[in-house]
Amino acid sequence: MSTSSSSPFLAETVTSVHHWNDTLFSFKTTRNLSFRFQTGQFVMIGLEMQGRPLLRAYSIASPHYEEHLEFYSIKVPDGPLTSRLQHLKVGDSLLVGKKPTGTLINDNLRPGRNLYLLSSGTGLAPFMSTITDPVYYEAYEHIVLVHGVRYVSELGYRDFITQDLPGDEYLGEMVRAKLRYFPTVTREDFPQQGRVTDLLDQGEITRSLNLPDLDPEVDRIMICGNPGLLTDLVAILERRGFDEGSMNKQGSYVIERAFVEK
Ligand SMILES: Cc1cc2nc3c(=O)[nH]c(=O)nc-3n(C[C@H](O)[C@H](O)[C@H](O)COP(=O)(O)OP(=O)(O)OC[C@H]3O[C@@H](n4cnc5c(N)ncnc54)[C@H](O)[C@@H]3O)c2cc1C
Repeated sequence: MSTSSSSPFLAETVTSVHHWNDTLFSFKTTRNLSFRFQTGQFVMIGLEMQGRPLLRAYSIASPHYEEHLEFYSIKVPDGPLTSRLQHLKVGDSLLVGKKPTGTLINDNLRPGRNLYLLSSGTGLAPFMSTITDPVYYEAYEHIVLVHGVRYVSELGYRDFITQDLPGDEYLGEMVRAKLRYFPTVTREDFPQQGRVTDLLDQGEITRSLNLPDLDPEVDRIMICGNPGLLTDLVAILERRGFDEGSMNKQGSYVIERAFVEK
């Protein structure tokens, strides 16, 4: 398949692969200088199969200013793309669409006090680019990253968030002052347990972080998770007076599905 200038894809090269457990992995690729994206966006990526592209939407997990691209992926047994993608090796080629898009961007929110990033599973991916973007630390008093998973081994990037990022030469000071990480697990013992929906609705997240109760006037929320989580969180937020933002109209929350149920 051609990836010439008229092609909708760039051909990038895999530079590293990390397997978190049996169901999750992440990988980095080269990044064409022409490829620009906004923090929080997703892009179509994939592999060439019998001369044709097999593509799926993926959030970009790396910061917009890095020279590489990073993606955080599920391994779906028998999944058309991920059953192959999980065998990626350094040096392999990856197709990356030229048109990133998505709603999880700050322009879709009215200015606010605290930013809540609510995620489940691979819904963490877009927020990895958010918590490494200095613009967000300048815009908000606190950034609260909530990550809900079933098992502890599914808390990808945990060491990066709790150790590497606070110690980062450039971002460390802002991260230590403003980033609050709230991982929660449903099917194993862990300091924080339960569903993101219940913990948010019961005020457990704000209480345990010593933050004021959620307030649609000043708090802003981004959500990326499984379709059920999105439906339940949207119901909770709308009941509390939050309104959805989009490209056309700023709001107090924005959502993106982490995947589509087929
Ligand atoms: C806007 C958007 C952004 C996305 N970003 C990511 C991302 O950053 N990382 C990522 O791994 N996936 C992401 N996805 C899902 C991705 O597009 C694919 O569905 C996934 O890679 C599996 O592809 P597949 O061809 O192997 O299986 P598919 O045929 O696409 O999916 C088969 C089934 O697997 C389940 N499934 C698919 N993706 C997931 C997932 N991420 N977590 C749990 N169950 C899943 C669903 O039940 C789905 O019906 C995103 C989807 C959308 C719509």
